[in-house]
Amino acid sequence: MSVGKYVRFEARGAAAYGRLEGERVEVLSSAPWAGGRPTGATHGLGEVRLLAPCQPTKIVCLGRNYREHAAELGNEPPRDPLLFLKPPSAVIGPEAPIVYPPASRRVDYEGELALVIGKRCGRLKPEENPLDYLFGFTCLNDITARDLQKADGQFTRAKGFDTFCPLGPVIATGLDAGGLVVETYVNGARRQRGATTEMIFPLDAIIRFISSVMTLEPGDVISTGTPAGVGPLQPGDVVEVVIEGIGRLRNPVAA
Ligand code: ZN
Repeated sequence: MSVGKYVRFEARGAAAYGRLEGERVEVLSSAPWAGGRPTGATHGLGEVRLLAPCQPTKIVCLGRNYREHAAELGNEPPRDPLLFLKPPSAVIGPEAPIVYPPASRRVDYEGELALVIGKRCGRLKPEENPLDYLFGFTCLNDITARDLQKADGQFTRAKGFDTFCPLGPVIATGLDAGGLVVETYVNGARRQRGATTEMIFPLDAIIRFISSVMTLEPGDVISTGTPAGVGPLQPGDVVEVVIEGIGRLRNPVAA
């Protein structure tokens, strides 16, 4: 896959996929992983509202994939990838507000590198390369009601509220995933910084492992875990997940 940046956007009340060319959006006939081709129409980037860049059937997340983050919450690094799901109903795009649920008093950011699947992928054979099923990379903020995660002893409610899965702003293809750096900023101050080289499980092992459990569909999202430095958000804050080569996923927090 060559280097490119893909978006999903709304213009004049209609949603579409597009390819970013500088400050212009070339409209595609469908999702790029579904063979979408340029329709010939274009928009200025300033004329469209960016949406989450894909519509996943599921969001598969890794817990504790960075040693320092596992340690900061008092956990041992896992022997196998630790999986959980976020529901598609939690997904929001850039600039959409993260809404603080009344049930929680402690909502945390978790900046993460996310993978977008390009081809249906299940039970990969040893000779198959998992990265052949990858379309590209985006930013994900794995918003977590930390108090409810502790109270429940599992993750579904704490990670599953509406608006708890900001995604975007673009899907970047053709990146060298080996040395990507994930950073999270709250109100402009850097709170997290981690390199993909510090992950316990590398990207190909993650895709292979998940494919041994569940079939991944085109447009599905895998989030690869958060580095150390997680912390709380308050209504009125602005949180940004920044990954070089992808961009800046910016969301306000609302009460
Ligand atoms: Zn996470």
